[in-house]
Amino acid sequence: SENLLEVTGLKVHFPIRKGIVFDRTVGHVKAVDGISLGVSTGQTLGVVGESGCGKSTLGRAILRLEEPTSGTVKFNGQDITSLPAEKMRRLRRRMQMVFQDPLSSLDPRQSIESLLIEPLTVHGLAESDLEKIGRDSPANHRRKALNMLELVGLPASAMAKYPHEFSGGQRQRVGIARAMICSPDLVIADEPVSALDVSVQAQVINLLEDLQAELGVTYVVIAHDLAVVRHISDRIAVMYLGQVVEEAGSDELYEKPYHPYTVALMSAIPVPDPVVEDSRERILLEGDLPSPADPPSGCRFHTRCPWAREKCSQEDPELREIEPGRRVACHFAEEVAQKIADDREVEN
Ligand code: SF4
Ligand code: MG
Repeated sequence: SENLLEVTGLKVHFPIRKGIVFDRTVGHVKAVDGISLGVSTGQTLGVVGESGCGKSTLGRAILRLEEPTSGTVKFNGQDITSLPAEKMRRLRRRMQMVFQDPLSSLDPRQSIESLLIEPLTVHGLAESDLEKIGRDSPANHRRKALNMLELVGLPASAMAKYPHEFSGGQRQRVGIARAMICSPDLVIADEPVSALDVSVQAQVINLLEDLQAELGVTYVVIAHDLAVVRHISDRIAVMYLGQVVEEAGSDELYEKPYHPYTVALMSAIPVPDPVVEDSRERILLEGDLPSPADPPSGCRFHTRCPWAREKCSQEDPELREIEPGRRVACHFAEEVAQKIADDREVEN
């Protein structure tokens, strides 16, 4: 089917500035550095990578909350990269975002009712809702808000309450209801469960899945943890330093990873880290993520790759189609996949 979202050659480079009197650009952080991806209607694309790999910037650039440096974003066949602000504003209803931390994304002084109705006041009811519940009036906004609360599993009594009166998981339900209330076609969820207790993470992921089945919405779910996106995603894109290094159907990726970085993400052992606030952030590999302002030569992963050879620091591996519907950027992908398959056989 036709892709609802089509991203082609997307780059988001941020200038690094120095000097107070003579402000000059001394380099660029290549947060997103040439990404091409598609998501078809009603499907979920998982985007996975370490903190700092550019996945949040990618999500924000798709919604034009961040202006792309180059490349295109097509939504429903229309190139929105150069859309004037007014037209973009009208499209916003159809493209919404769920944030990591609902406590900081929800105004604490607003009641749940007011938080839910606000997007409707800004954008109005969607046409599909107008057909169902009639004209765009305060009473119908309230009906829609109540309906949405029920869909996210919160009682009607929640309307009069404030964000601090809820648990983290319930607050994220409010955040999701707020994103869904305008009946968007596309929702980008940036680390939707990473601020939540492990015990409620699955509930929120299940809620997102149920809402997709009910409303037919298309998702991009961003996470640093492959396990979080595994079940909800139809396809998964693995990002490293601003680029996609592997992309595949979710099951196929788990069945047969081709890229050494994907293998590392899969075998990562959770290590509590007292320095990182989110102690579930996993230590994936030896060494730090190199700076996206000055990425390594050749394959960007070569400084941390257990498979790296001479060729890797010299030649940038192209993102190539290795099997139908699968792309990977590694000179030695076939060898890696074979070794992983052999190792798995020995284990079993
Ligand atoms: Fe590792 Fe080389 Fe493949 Fe890059 S190209 S992932 S360094 S083996
Ligand atoms: Mg992020």
